[in-house]
Amino acid sequence: MNVRHILGISGGKDSAALAIYLKQKYPNLKIEYYNSDTGCELEETENLINRLEAYLGKIVRLRAVETEIEPTPFHHYLKAMGGFLPSPQARWCTKKMKLDRFEEFVGDDYAISYVGIRGDEDRDGYISTKPNIQAIFPFRKNIWSIDVINKVLHNDNLEQLIDLYNKLCPEGWLKDDIMDVVMKPLSKTFFYSKKMNALLDLDIKLFNHVVFEYLKTTDYPVGKLDEFPLLDNTDVLVKDDIFRILRESGVGVPAYYDEIPFEVDGKQGTYCRSRSGCYFCFFQQKIEWIWLLEQHPDLYAQAMEFEKDGYTWNQNESLAELCQPERVRQIKLDIIKRQEESRKQDKGTTLADILGGEIMCANCFI
Ligand code: SF4
Repeated sequence: MNVRHILGISGGKDSAALAIYLKQKYPNLKIEYYNSDTGCELEETENLINRLEAYLGKIVRLRAVETEIEPTPFHHYLKAMGGFLPSPQARWCTKKMKLDRFEEFVGDDYAISYVGIRGDEDRDGYISTKPNIQAIFPFRKNIWSIDVINKVLHNDNLEQLIDLYNKLCPEGWLKDDIMDVVMKPLSKTFFYSKKMNALLDLDIKLFNHVVFEYLKTTDYPVGKLDEFPLLDNTDVLVKDDIFRILRESGVGVPAYYDEIPFEVDGKQGTYCRSRSGCYFCFFQQKIEWIWLLEQHPDLYAQAMEFEKDGYTWNQNESLAELCQPERVRQIKLDIIKRQEESRKQDKGTTLADILGGEIMCANCFI
């Protein structure tokens, strides 16, 4: 059965590192790389994607719409939406410019989509609404998506789980401990993540092989494979590993991460942009808008032009208000204060450290 292996390159550090990691560790996996081309990425992001392409081979650019009338797909869809800007509550941009085109690219083929959520993050990634696309998370201890875990460990499947463990678990002193956990049904105090973590702590590879055998009885893409090398992968990769992989490969860290110093009232701070994505992305923090204003004034002006008829990128504040000198000063002083507090607590002071966990979007920023 033909199953495609697919990896989305967002322009962020984690998907870049995942592509490099998988190429180095599993050179025989024939992975198709793609990038959702919105026409609205920063040049720093485009540069990273070009460097990655030189390292990995072809990255297919998926453009949601080709139009000669509008300069970018975003302009096209914004017009179709009557100028209604996307927001966290009405996020039509990701669907129209990325998800729909991605699902069209895969079509009805069985596909495994590799996602770079790190081992030190506590979140789930994009789970396709299409059953022929299955997400796998190689950087985490648990490589499976939540829907798979919920099925494998469901009490209705307890007998099947016990049979699979009995079949695959080698005889030995740990078998009794493992079978105790396997046989314990889920309850209000012994819920999915608790049972999963207990089984992973006992034996990651065994757990993965059991899940693999279970998937063979379903229509999940991984179950269509004869073998899957990631079953025996016990690596857990965290933020420092990501930066190391990027640097050691020669691809390097995206340039928008470079901390740029600034000074207000004799106090020092730094700013950068903490993620990839469209330059006008409404998920960015106020200090990132100031970074855009000062580092890419043309793009800030373009983002400002989209704000018409009462639509603004930020709730309660337009970009015209945000770029006033006193407001810029306030935002910079606020970030200086947060950086000083982080320094006192011996925590990281970069913008990515301070804001890193505040974004929840697997499709745009990983
Ligand atoms: S980066 Fe932001 S604006 Fe662009 S598609 Fe993603 S959520 Fe929307």
